[in-house]
Amino acid sequence: MDIFCRIANKEIKTDLLYEDDLVMAFNDIHPLAPVHVLIIPKEHIESIADLEDEDEKLMGRMIMAAKKIAEDLKIDSSGYKLLFRVKENGGQEVPHIHLHLIGGARLSENIKPIE
Ligand SMILES: [Zn+2]
Repeated sequence: MDIFCRIANKEIKTDLLYEDDLVMAFNDIHPLAPVHVLIIPKEHIESIADLEDEDEKLMGRMIMAAKKIAEDLKIDSSGYKLLFRVKENGGQEVPHIHLHLIGGARLSENIKPIE
């Protein structure tokens, strides 16, 4: 079982920034910026590439959760980045969908292809 399923099942304790019936959010343990939150579906879905039509509501909920968290952390007016990594070439490290909410500082464009 991947680490995000274990967090969703509350096997691993994490300080939650947000939780509802479908999604939950917590701080990334390796933050790239002053704010770096991960939003995950409670249900296991490996990646964006594995989504089905019925997951449309869930994915909308993830975006809305990100918006609310950005407001709570007061980075909504300064702005932020939302990022889904997908599988190997996208740099996805945990095989459970997660949305990165990154902000609190001006972000460089460092997502370059690796030679
Ligand atoms: Zn999972």
